[in-house]
Amino acid sequence: MSIAVAIDGPVGAGKSSIAKECAKRLGFIYVDTGALYRCIGLFCDRNGVNIDDTSRVEAALSHITLDVKIKNGTQHVYLNGYDVSEEIRLPEISMAASKVSAIPAVREYLLQFQRDMAASQNVIMDGRDIGTVVLPNAEVKIYLTADAEVRAKRRYDELIAKGNNVTFESVLADLNQRDHNDMTREIAPLKQADDAVLADTTKLDFDSSCDLLIGIIKEKAGL
Ligand code: C5P
Repeated sequence: MSIAVAIDGPVGAGKSSIAKECAKRLGFIYVDTGALYRCIGLFCDRNGVNIDDTSRVEAALSHITLDVKIKNGTQHVYLNGYDVSEEIRLPEISMAASKVSAIPAVREYLLQFQRDMAASQNVIMDGRDIGTVVLPNAEVKIYLTADAEVRAKRRYDELIAKGNNVTFESVLADLNQRDHNDMTREIAPLKQADDAVLADTTKLDFDSSCDLLIGIIKEKAGL
């Protein structure tokens, strides 16, 4: 039987970098579900689909084919055959992903896709609704968070290192807006699952955060 680890939490809690490192150490496959919502946001952005118009986004779904491949331990996402793993990280695509993710048809479209990925292999899957909706029977559930200012600083440093021209204030505002969207939407809102362990990394560096999560995963999964 395969083991599923669900990690949910707000923007910039370090979910992807920490989950990726934990997966490497445990020999699990890491699945970043935010990348899938970003692909849909990217498709709409590049094809002039108005993301505030639910029916247009719904209609666009029939023109979208997604694929995920793991290359050298890193997840690559393909939108209609093209590797868009880098492009989906652009700041404007973050907000597009946030908006399309509130549309029920979008969540429905991605639900089975995500479940299939966890069905046959040991995974660490991160997102917003993994422990609550996508994998409610996951062996391990973690709600990963940190203070908003700390999360914004980490995200800001990441974007600057990649050459993006952003200010700390704009990153913090974007983060708060996206968290608000995720926590208040009607369908699959971001919240801690009743049976999730809370992990707060406000005062922890990257290595200590990974150690904390590895400890939780080993204990809960009986590894
Ligand atoms: O995790 P990331 O920031 O890349 O996700 C992009 C957006 O996709 C989030 O702002 C969130 O609105 C949405 N998302 C979601 N459910 C998930 C993963 C991401 O709604 N499981």
